Amino acid sequence: MSPSASDEQGRHIVIVGGGVIGVCSAYYITRLIPDAKVTLIEGTEIAAAASGKSGGFLALDWCDSGPLGKLARKSFALHAELAAELDGPRHYDYRLLDTWQIEADFEDREVVDGKATGRKGPKRAVKGAEAVPWLDTTRVLQTTVTGNHSSTAQVTPAKFARTVMKAAQANGAKLVIGTVRGLRLENGRVHAVKVISDGRRRDISCTDVVLAMGPWSAQAKEWLPLPNLNMLDTRAHSVVLLPKEPVPAQALFVNMKVGTGYAEPEVYPRSDGTVYLCGEADEVKLPPTAAQVEPADEATQRLVRCAHLLSPTHLGNTKPIREQACFLPTLVDGRPAIGKLGPGASNVVMATGHTCWGILNSPATGLVVAELLAGLEPSVGLSKFDTKRLL
Ligand SMILES: Cc1cc2nc3c(=O)[nH]c(=O)nc-3n(C[C@H](O)[C@H](O)[C@H](O)COP(=O)(O)OP(=O)(O)OC[C@H]3O[C@@H](n4cnc5c(N)ncnc54)[C@H](O)[C@@H]3O)c2cc1C
Repeated sequence: MSPSASDEQGRHIVIVGGGVIGVCSAYYITRLIPDAKVTLIEGTEIAAAASGKSGGFLALDWCDSGPLGKLARKSFALHAELAAELDGPRHYDYRLLDTWQIEADFEDREVVDGKATGRKGPKRAVKGAEAVPWLDTTRVLQTTVTGNHSSTAQVTPAKFARTVMKAAQANGAKLVIGTVRGLRLENGRVHAVKVISDGRRRDISCTDVVLAMGPWSAQAKEWLPLPNLNMLDTRAHSVVLLPKEPVPAQALFVNMKVGTGYAEPEVYPRSDGTVYLCGEADEVKLPPTAAQVEPADEATQRLVRCAHLLSPTHLGNTKPIREQACFLPTLVDGRPAIGKLGPGASNVVMATGHTCWGILNSPATGLVVAELLAGLEPSVGLSKFDTKRLL
């Protein structure tokens, strides 16, 4: 049963997790249910995990062939709306950009002291390589346009998350830095969230809970009957470089032969003048908190080496200003879980499992979470993200 308008006064919605999914939920809840009290509880800081360390690449139609298609299209449009409302270009580097798939061959190239060297002489540039003149075009085998100003865009995720949280706070939401350790249940409803904050244990009473804990979502198995809530432990690495010369707004998905192996870095020049590269995923145990996630040096060095090889003129010999890692929130079946949990926890909404598309899909997810709590029909059908599969 959805609460009536007169109930809203006494409503207290608690959101657990201050990644993009949590903050977008907070923002849309404050807009759709303005009389409800909203508290977001975050263990480390806003955007402490993937939401602060990911690429921030947005695509209108790249998810069309899978379950995320409609959510992604809605979210791409909401990103444009949010950017207009919150001055995204200024506050979080929102912009439209061109996107390329690049095949490159550096089999005979090495990086010595940050400079690319090679035994063989340069190859001839292929047709189309002139479109990406900041790369070593003599090594580019193929270029394919995969996005343009109507279908691809980007944000700087940490700035995006903080801006959206600030907007939610301006609408009345409260932020508590603390770790949720459990839920108090009575008659199949959560009536309080157990929190450790400032070294003290306390209960925060609530009428509704949103669980948006990203890769830490499996903690909820200890709190609620969710035996099938299982997540993969996938860590991915990234580096941020300051180029020697300005780099055009071209996102690159690169497939490159390096020595005897291959690398597939994603390269995102940002409007703040930096260049972000990510890739190099591995399976390691998820640490207890976002603050404890560390990168593997070899992995970040491989990314830096890719940057030096790809663009000796702009990125050669540059040192990273950030080397970092974060975990992808991935449920074992690869699909997000978005929706109410039903009997046993009837006032809990789950929003997790956005894998490598969480920045793109955060506004639409936040909106549907708010719609569910407001008793409205969700703007995007949620059958593909059904939470029953976690029970
Ligand atoms: C390298 C990399 C690149 C990526 N690039 C892109 C991209 O270009 N485009 C895109 O759309 N997506 C991208 N993604 C995916 C995207 O970053 C994630 O899907 C998204 O950030 C997940 O957001 P989230 O809010 O679910 O989780 P998170 O960002 O992980 O946030 C979860 C938060 O919950 C908090 N938390 C957990 N448990 C508790 C607790 N008990 N109490 C209090 N707080 C708690 C954590 O501290 C954390 O801050 C990328 C991911 C990676 C790893």
